[in-house]
Amino acid sequence: MWRDVMRQTKGWLPDDEADALYELGLASPPGLPMVELGSYCGKSTVCLGAAARELDVTLFTVDHHRGSPEMAPGQDCHDPEVLDADGRHDTLPWLRATIAAADLEWWVVPVVGASARVGRLWGTKVGTLFIDAGHDARSIRDDVSAWAEKVSGRIVFHDATIPHIGDEVEFLVADGWTELPSVGCMRIVAR
Ligand code: MG
Repeated sequence: MWRDVMRQTKGWLPDDEADALYELGLASPPGLPMVELGSYCGKSTVCLGAAARELDVTLFTVDHHRGSPEMAPGQDCHDPEVLDADGRHDTLPWLRATIAAADLEWWVVPVVGASARVGRLWGTKVGTLFIDAGHDARSIRDDVSAWAEKVSGRIVFHDATIPHIGDEVEFLVADGWTELPSVGCMRIVAR
């Protein structure tokens, strides 16, 4: 059922990566929340959320919902459907509809705000972290520095074929993390 909702949700996540995300979620350390950075309309949220439901843990999904530069009018990822009545990018209603459609509202908690800002104040350990928020070098760097130290299981980077995202994987490996086999454009490191 969650797969049907996932396939109907806006976003950029092929089926093999969706299945891998679900499996990574199931392998998350028991009893700890998972965190997703970059919710957009909830496509990957559903994969991790379905795993969170299986484990009966909470998935926090963090996004300011105002879109990233590549979603601006005229850019590659622009979608006029996600503008609100005032013409502002707002994917929060889409995310909430996706979570409800997948029957995941008990397990998935949306957090509305900039991912690194939330991360700097985050107080709990995180079992699994999925990084797919701002894709520019500065945003990725800020997300890793705000969140990585809180993760006791795995960090999954989406779109890690982008060189400066791959650089963050190398940075963590140099810091003692172990890289696991990648899936599609996802690279994965474990403590
Ligand atoms: Mg992505």
